[in-house]
Amino acid sequence: MTTPPRLSSSTSPLEPFCPDCHAEIGHVHHEWCDVARCLATGLQRHGHDLETCRCPRDKWSGWWPGEAECIEFGWLYGSGLPDLNRLMTTATWDPVAHRWSRPDHQTSADRDTTVEGEPR
Ligand SMILES: [Zn+2]
Ligand SMILES: [Zn+2]
Repeated sequence: MTTPPRLSSSTSPLEPFCPDCHAEIGHVHHEWCDVARCLATGLQRHGHDLETCRCPRDKWSGWWPGEAECIEFGWLYGSGLPDLNRLMTTATWDPVAHRWSRPDHQTSADRDTTVEGEPR
């Protein structure tokens, strides 16, 4: 058993190992891993349709699934925690790029700044 070295001064949120199956960055998750995503839907791989789903094996990227997109979109809670709920409910999974994309592709509008009073 080896303990991964902890870089106390590091500000990078990258996790060297999957917190569930301990796959290294760039390595595929184990079959049973709850963190692995179904690359066809973006949802938990654990529970995708084994009969019909042909998604490739997901790899641990060093980020919690969706975390990088949350940061990129600016969907964060006050302290910088990624708002994964919002990602799941508002973003669209891109099965080709294997990542979340914003639901609206409005480039000229500034609506992104008005996120405070979200309707439930
Ligand atoms: Zn894993
Ligand atoms: Zn799948």
